[in-house]
Amino acid sequence: MQTVATVMTPEVSSVDRDFPLLKAIAIMAKRAISCVVVREGPRPIGILTERDLVRKLFAAGGDPAMFRVGDVMTTPPQTVTEETTTLEALQLLRTRAFRRLPVVDPSGALVGIVTQTDLLHAVIADLEEASRLKSEILSTVSHELRTPIALIAGYVDLLSEGTFEPLQPRQQEVVARVQRTSSQLVDLVNAAFELIQLEAGRVSVACNPIDVEALFEQLGREFRALVPEGVSLHWRNELGTQPILGDHAKLKASLKNVVDNALKFTTAGRVEVMAAWADGLLTFVVQDTGIGIPAADLSHIFELFRQVDASDTRRFAGVGLGLHVVKRLLDVLGGRIAVDSTLGVGSTFRITIPAPRVMGGPPTRP
Ligand code: ADP
Repeated sequence: MQTVATVMTPEVSSVDRDFPLLKAIAIMAKRAISCVVVREGPRPIGILTERDLVRKLFAAGGDPAMFRVGDVMTTPPQTVTEETTTLEALQLLRTRAFRRLPVVDPSGALVGIVTQTDLLHAVIADLEEASRLKSEILSTVSHELRTPIALIAGYVDLLSEGTFEPLQPRQQEVVARVQRTSSQLVDLVNAAFELIQLEAGRVSVACNPIDVEALFEQLGREFRALVPEGVSLHWRNELGTQPILGDHAKLKASLKNVVDNALKFTTAGRVEVMAAWADGLLTFVVQDTGIGIPAADLSHIFELFRQVDASDTRRFAGVGLGLHVVKRLLDVLGGRIAVDSTLGVGSTFRITIPAPRVMGGPPTRP
């Protein structure tokens, strides 16, 4: 945090309170300055500004030649020292009608002046630096978290598949629970990391051929263990086998999030994921027969940390990051996400992205 010393102007014109007003105005005009500090000995006791001249002098009426500086100055001014932080100084100005503050030394003697504009610039620069540092730290922490968490998730998968030795039913149950939780953790860290990159403007758009059929197959494998009992998950690709051009990672992350929600909020029935061309746009529709979303909440669910039910007793895991990240990712791609829902019946999320068809070239295998 910068201090007043870094932004103050040490050269300051000062006069005493008995100084003729017209002469003070002449000094301001000649030096092209908008204020003079009024002193008693070395101590500042007021400031005479252009605003004082307009407001007070003309309100008082009479002959300006009769006035002394002390008659129209603003008193008493707050003072700051060179060690005062720019934020503290700015806060002093916020509570008063002043735009400038005299700077004094420890004995109270005038040593300079600092303006609101200079303080604002300094505070903004400090905030930008603090925000950059915060993003840097968050980015490093989430990046460092990703590797060990992915490793845990990988070993749990191996355990669950009985790679080392077949598991007893009770062990299988516990491992399945760890698998679900670690998968949530992976998603949460990925979403946080993605959001930090988006906030920092560190996101670029890739353009490569995507084989949607292969993408659906891969997502199908990843979601297999997460489909609740009594729910069936269907993938329908109407795009054909021709690859499309787009950003594979962002598309996959967006779809994954929406399908994950559909499975999370559906306790019976089906979840269907469909890909097609509609009105020249690459369109993905994720439809579920889940709990649905109240009409009043539909416009809020894409906001950061917004959940329909934010109570402590909430039945479903999650923090309200997912859809916000999806919307931000799609913004980057020039795409959109929309939702239709009926409470108790189900929800339909529709993702549309402008993506040209590809005539040839190898598809990206996920
Ligand atoms: P969360 O981590 O809570 O799932 P999201 O941003 O992904 O966060 O979703 C925000 C909220 O939108 C969810 O908490 C839930 O209330 C609602 N929601 C999202 N998808 C569905 C869905 N398919 N069915 C019902 N509610 C949903």
